[in-house]
Amino acid sequence: MGKVTGFLEFERLSEANVPVPVRVKNYKEFVLHLSDDQAKVQGARCMDCGIPFCMTGCPVNNIIPDWNDLVYQQDWQQAIAVLHSTNNFPEFTGRICPAPCEAACTLNINNDAVGIKSIEHAIIDKAWEKGWVVPQPPKHKTGKKVAIIGSGPAGMAAAQQLARAGHDVVLLEKNDRIGGLMRYGIPDFKFEKSHIDRRIEQMRAEGVEFRVNQHIGENVSADELLATFDAVVLAAGAETPRNLDIPGRELVGIHFAMEFLTQQNKKVAGDKISNQLKATGKHVVVIGGGDTGSDCVGTSNRHGAASVSQFEIMPQPPEHENRPLTWPNWPIKLRTSSSHEEGCERDWSVVTKRFEGVKGQVKKLIAARVEWKDGKMQEIPDSEFEMQADLVLLAMGFVSPVQKLLDAFGVAKDNRGNAKASTDGKGCYATSTRKVFAAGDVRRGQSLVVWAIREGRQCAQAVDAYLMGKSDLPR
Ligand SMILES: Cc1cc2nc3c(=O)[nH]c(=O)nc-3n(C[C@H](O)[C@H](O)[C@H](O)COP(=O)(O)OP(=O)(O)OC[C@H]3O[C@@H](n4cnc5c(N)ncnc54)[C@H](O)[C@@H]3O)c2cc1C
Ligand code: SF4
Repeated sequence: MGKVTGFLEFERLSEANVPVPVRVKNYKEFVLHLSDDQAKVQGARCMDCGIPFCMTGCPVNNIIPDWNDLVYQQDWQQAIAVLHSTNNFPEFTGRICPAPCEAACTLNINNDAVGIKSIEHAIIDKAWEKGWVVPQPPKHKTGKKVAIIGSGPAGMAAAQQLARAGHDVVLLEKNDRIGGLMRYGIPDFKFEKSHIDRRIEQMRAEGVEFRVNQHIGENVSADELLATFDAVVLAAGAETPRNLDIPGRELVGIHFAMEFLTQQNKKVAGDKISNQLKATGKHVVVIGGGDTGSDCVGTSNRHGAASVSQFEIMPQPPEHENRPLTWPNWPIKLRTSSSHEEGCERDWSVVTKRFEGVKGQVKKLIAARVEWKDGKMQEIPDSEFEMQADLVLLAMGFVSPVQKLLDAFGVAKDNRGNAKASTDGKGCYATSTRKVFAAGDVRRGQSLVVWAIREGRQCAQAVDAYLMGKSDLPR
């Protein structure tokens, strides 16, 4: 434990942000990591409470009290060693994880949680700066070949672990760049893509082969992979968006969020985008209140939208959770993202009923207010209202993986259409098809980067054990 009385002496300090008027002029990250001295003080707030609920709150089970203490002692090199022992990519999670660990922090019962995510961010940024993140090629090769389909965090984590275990790993990606939703979904202002590029270089040096523009089930067949590789990992995400099938849906100007976000990310990467979807000067309505919707808000403001509104069908959650009731679990409460702070009108308990347009272009949206009783939604009579809308972005989540890929491998599905595989016991992460495994959103449904990393790591261990009869990889 760092400082015995640290939690009594020091207050939580959040990371500084570049002010809104400056940051909305570009697509650069704007969260500044803590200085060494600030991180030391924040590390000192950890009580080392004995039962580290934070570790169970964290999906990769980061050994948080240990690295909090090491940062307090300013032993940064040991801190990154401990952090990397459970998390392949802390620079991903240190930036975009919602930090369920902090909800579970014991200090969070009646005080402000330890700033775990900000300490993680500081450790990994220092490690890169100091050149401590180096390739770890395997000492021996096994001669076994593994194909991984999908290069998001699940595929990347599985690939790194399997390459370090000595297998020949090929990471296949249908897009023109590696990274999955971190590359083409999450905007650069939350997560700059150089973080992925650095890891690609590290993984190449560890023996991972990256192949882009490989669309399995389209230009590469499942049978070909099954014939060539000793094991195949499906890490293809859950890409089917939830649609809003209401009158007027066919009008020009109504798009899935991912169409809008991908184009902007490609633009930032230097690609030429013809007829880019732009929010400039438009009244934008984002339908859906989650992370994806919030990213649409931030991007629309950077485009210079005339106005940005966001609707959520669920009721507005309470501003503060009832901590004795919710701790150590992830509470439902009002969350205001950095994109909301940049300007957005938010409204809850709203159902969109139809779109109306002029000459085929959407111009307005007709909505109504709803109330929820016993989990059922009821429209409030005479509550209809309309809203100007030149651009409507549908951000209502993703329903399932693309079924065609799962069908190409003949894998059994769960009742939500995800690849069916358990996460515990013998045969974990294995699908119903021999030598085919599944990890990340393709297995668990739409989730988080940190869960994808966990599943990629655990799946790698299962694949290693399948190929070698046993595995020394950590779970
Ligand atoms: C806009 C947006 C914002 C988000 N923000 C956050 C956030 O702030 N924090 C957070 O933790 N999570 C966030 N998420 C969720 C997070 O990005 C995902 O849970 C995570 O990326 C899932 O990882 P994955 O590796 O399972 O799949 P993905 O990241 O979806 O990667 C799957 C990859 O497989 C490829 N693929 C699919 N089919 C094939 C095929 N047939 N052949 C070859 N390749 C294929 C895809 O092109 C893709 O690159 C966000 C999601 C979105 C959409
Ligand atoms: S990965 Fe996420 S949950 Fe785990 S310690 Fe980091 S911020 Fe917390």
